[in-house]
Amino acid sequence: MKEILLCKCGELVLKGLNRHKFEDRLKKTLYWRLKKIGEFDIHACQSTVYVEPRSEGEDMAAALAACSRIFGIVGVARAVVCEKNIEDIKQKAGDYLKDALAAVRTYKVETRRADKRFPLTSPEISREVGGYLSDRYPHLQAQMEEPQLTVKVEVREEYAYVSAGVTAGAGGLPTGTSGKGMLLLSGGIDSPVAGWMMAKRGMELAGVHFFSYPYTSMEARQKVLDLAEVLTHWAGRMTVTVVPFTHIQTEIRDKCREDYFTLIMRRMMMRLAQRTAEKQDCQCLITGESLAQVASQTVQALNVTNAVCQMPVLRPVIGMDKEEIVSVARRIGTMDISILPYEDCCTVFTPKHPQTKPALDKAEEEERKLDVEALIDEALAGVEIITIG
Ligand code: ATP
Ligand code: MG
Repeated sequence: MKEILLCKCGELVLKGLNRHKFEDRLKKTLYWRLKKIGEFDIHACQSTVYVEPRSEGEDMAAALAACSRIFGIVGVARAVVCEKNIEDIKQKAGDYLKDALAAVRTYKVETRRADKRFPLTSPEISREVGGYLSDRYPHLQAQMEEPQLTVKVEVREEYAYVSAGVTAGAGGLPTGTSGKGMLLLSGGIDSPVAGWMMAKRGMELAGVHFFSYPYTSMEARQKVLDLAEVLTHWAGRMTVTVVPFTHIQTEIRDKCREDYFTLIMRRMMMRLAQRTAEKQDCQCLITGESLAQVASQTVQALNVTNAVCQMPVLRPVIGMDKEEIVSVARRIGTMDISILPYEDCCTVFTPKHPQTKPALDKAEEEERKLDVEALIDEALAGVEIITIG
């Protein structure tokens, strides 16, 4: 029996003239993701993308899992391909859904007929298929309200398809349709979630990580690359730029007043992230800051940090509670890596009493004790760019 995946597109159908651009991006993404799994033909028609294996040996479960992580798709159904005659539809429905039907008692059949030339109407098709299934599997009972299984018949241009159950898709917009963002990626819980949320809205990601060796270890660096790897399952290939940050941190520790350490460090991160973003054609920065979660994330502190940014800084988790962020992290597969116990540069030289209501002029005054430009040039000269995915 020949199987196919029917991927239902979400919001992109609403995008009028841009629709083709969105569809093309989605098809390209599907092509690249599925290439690793096997050979599939991909074509789009009427808000559905058809993913058709070239041979029957392809791993359909892996293909389904990959499709369900592609932004722009709201649901994926694994279906059997039928000839466009009612006998073949009935027969294949009975064969293909044998196991699924054996596991339930109540079911119903729903039909959508896109091809109005098909000789039977949708209710007639449902009745025919339902009658056949009830005869063949006498334990089954048709039930219109909340059945355990809904058998779907779709009659389309070339073929008819029978499926049962839709796997939820990732939603959002196809990767690459909303520009490119530079994600400040730490090893924590919040920043991978922040990156994922922007990627969901169609943004291509690049990552930047500030690395304070030997205060932070090679394991901590690897953890960040592992987090990026999980993000690529959703958002596709990305680079991570690892910026040496130790000298900047020791300079701040040696020369600036302690309660401004973290703030000045964050302003340095923003400057470096922005320069990296410009080089890599990103239009914005993305951080995992959440309002008032720590001293450097009060609105006053965010203002002081923002004062060095010309690019927009997107903070998608700003209004989320930790538990909400954690539940997304679990769903997207970053949580288990994020909670590994390696230190981040933010936890090195943390002041005992950080400023929660810092003043911009004080931060600037402290920074005059540093050679900011020279430190930035030095760090940028030492970056390492790693491609993942
Ligand atoms: P996270 O869980 O994402 O680490 P956090 O709650 O620990 O966030 P901070 O450590 O104050 O908060 O960092 C705030 C944001 O700054 C992070 O979400 C991340 O975007 C960025 N950031 C922090 N440390 C680094 C780092 N070493 N490299 C790159 N970005 C960083
Ligand atoms: Mg952190």
